Amino acid sequence: MTGRIHSIETFGTVDGPGIRLTVFFQGCPLRCLYCHNPDTWSLEGGTEMTVAEILEEYEKGEPFYRGGGITATGGEPLMQMEFLTELFTESHRRGIHTCLDTSGITFTREKKNDFDALADVCDLVMLDIKHIDDAEHKKLTSASNRNALEYLAYLAEKDKPVWIRHVTVPGITLDDEYLARLGAYIGKYKNIKALDVLPYHSMAKKKYERMGIPYPLSDTPEATREDAVRAREIIIKNMKLSR
Ligand code: SF4
Repeated sequence: MTGRIHSIETFGTVDGPGIRLTVFFQGCPLRCLYCHNPDTWSLEGGTEMTVAEILEEYEKGEPFYRGGGITATGGEPLMQMEFLTELFTESHRRGIHTCLDTSGITFTREKKNDFDALADVCDLVMLDIKHIDDAEHKKLTSASNRNALEYLAYLAEKDKPVWIRHVTVPGITLDDEYLARLGAYIGKYKNIKALDVLPYHSMAKKKYERMGIPYPLSDTPEATREDAVRAREIIIKNMKLSR
């Protein structure tokens, strides 16, 4: 089978442990106001690739990727669940560490068999929790956070290592109360191994202009590094308090 791939980045250092081949999947059901990759939204775009073709790219840089591995990101890789599972299955067969960068938005217990098959071949999940408040999550992404939070619960049951990602956006997520609620919520999960808090920036503006899409956060200031550091401290403090 083939998957629809937006692009592949070699020697990535921010999408999981070590040096990694990062595979950007095409297709995403969310419409996050701060999305950097609106060109990945459509499931129609990208290039059709086989697992063998992707792993050929990996093999070209193989000595560098030892200690790292492959990361599937997007877009939303879970939109192409079958292909993603095939990619990770073959990667595992070759001893390659696999990481899924996801919003968890397509997760439901009804699809448990499919998610179990994926979990068997996925070493690490980087779960992007976009907003802890459901009503605010809907405003920010166009969907409820219910599936994402349920996916986190499922991954805890599986004792699957998770890194949480959270983007701080002034006036939206950069709010002491929301950050404290997020910390208190995720604090109960012992499988969370890292917390990555990223400051919102508007570098994608140009891309929106090129695509002829209005940029939704044109009136929102960027967050600073210090904002993100402080936000992370609030989340961690409340994680500890909830334990
Ligand atoms: S989940 Fe990621 S790719 Fe999808 S809209 Fe949000 S930021 Fe963009």
